[in-house]
Amino acid sequence: MHRKDFIKYITAIPLLSKSMTLTQLANHLPNTTTMPVLFLGHGSPMNAIEENEFVQGFRNCAVNIPKPKAILCVSAHWETNGTQVTAMEHPKTIHDFGGFPKALFDVEYPAPGSKWLAEETKKTITTKKISFDETWGLDHGAWSVIKHLYPKADVPIIQLSLDYNLTPQQHFDLASQLKSLRNKGVLIIGSGNIVHNLGLVAWDKLQEKEYGYDWALEVNTKIKSFIEAEDFKSLANYKNLGKAFQLAIPTPEHYLPLLYTLALKDKKETISFFNDKAIGGSLTMTSLKIT
Ligand code: ZN
Repeated sequence: MHRKDFIKYITAIPLLSKSMTLTQLANHLPNTTTMPVLFLGHGSPMNAIEENEFVQGFRNCAVNIPKPKAILCVSAHWETNGTQVTAMEHPKTIHDFGGFPKALFDVEYPAPGSKWLAEETKKTITTKKISFDETWGLDHGAWSVIKHLYPKADVPIIQLSLDYNLTPQQHFDLASQLKSLRNKGVLIIGSGNIVHNLGLVAWDKLQEKEYGYDWALEVNTKIKSFIEAEDFKSLANYKNLGKAFQLAIPTPEHYLPLLYTLALKDKKETISFFNDKAIGGSLTMTSLKIT
């Protein structure tokens, strides 16, 4: 807010008196800019330490975003019984994978946690109990991508888990309650992959810049058109959309973070896609930004 507008605003508060504290005044101030929302296709954990076009895409998508007060990340790699948020002050870097080089295990991403955001999230979601977690940390779905957005690890992060008891529509409805956080300086990031079938990866084609099976490309295209048409019902109903969808989304965890992202879109906002490529046959890196 500009100084001139601030003064105009202050004089318009009828209750403003000498007895008003600064905190009370702060509570009267209108919300800050609405933060964008991101869905990041994280792909291989190696993206954490490699230099490639996808990493460049992650970096670019943060360039025009005001520095967040905190980040809330919904990662494919944290599924729990019930919905939880991390509430520790110093979340540990979790190396939740195997068979990768030591250099990847050596990565630490020491971003602080945020008690404030954990509490705000719990307050904001009214239809379901949210519990505080003190044992998780940051899994690679969060740190392997967020490190490219904020390499200094100076933005506090919490994770919100995926409750494996919920239907896709219930996940979508839960996520939509988080909208108000966007006006409190919170950047919400879903981290997964739209098409993700590890069992069918063409390992011999992984080095190719772009390679997708027909069904992977078909589903990626269909999902993008559902997104563009704001047909969120079809997106939540993906299990009943035929064989290609069953191959592309054999398990829900990498897809659901997309629903968390889309549930936060306001009618007037636009969606831009980036990193929109298939790799290894059965994975798509397609990512999006809502502004
Ligand atoms: Zn993953």
